[in-house]
Amino acid sequence: MELAKYIATIPNFPQNGVSFKDITPLLINRDAFRFALAEFEKQFIDDDVQYIAGIEARGFLFASALADRLNCGLIPIRKAGKLPGDVLTEEYELEYGKAKLEIRKDTLPAGARVLIVDDVLATGGTAICAANLLGGAGAEIIGFAFLASLLFLEGERKLHGYRTVTLVKYE
Ligand code: AMP
Repeated sequence: MELAKYIATIPNFPQNGVSFKDITPLLINRDAFRFALAEFEKQFIDDDVQYIAGIEARGFLFASALADRLNCGLIPIRKAGKLPGDVLTEEYELEYGKAKLEIRKDTLPAGARVLIVDDVLATGGTAICAANLLGGAGAEIIGFAFLASLLFLEGERKLHGYRTVTLVKYE
């Protein structure tokens, strides 16, 4: 199945110059959504994944369904300020300014095998921040799974050394 057909490109959203990849058509189509999940499942079924970490917000959509398929726990990686109690925080650079990702403290056993999931890999800043955050919590990062990757932004270079699975690539 050609998944690219189910990803819409919206020019100049949410700001000028950004070509936004809208995954809504893929989510709405049960065959396309199931196909994408089955592809991820195939790639990681033999990797003894213990937790799927999904990045807020669209990463959650794939992470939770995949956690069910791979019989894993689910770790929500949240934007700053959303989680109650003690949290671990990691900062990353945006085009303008900085942002933070957080997870709950003391939720992961040492050496837990974690797969990180998001919808789109762009510059890789978010993904590497998530890896650093989980790594700091003692996780072993198995790799990354993205629905789509914008190759021209060279995010994969930032993830060099990690296994990265991407279902749709944009040159
Ligand atoms: P980056 O840190 O630059 O790799 O950005 C990745 C994060 O921002 C992911 O959580 C994506 O959901 C979102 N994102 C960045 N660029 C796009 C884009 N062109 N279309 C859709 N989502 C994007």
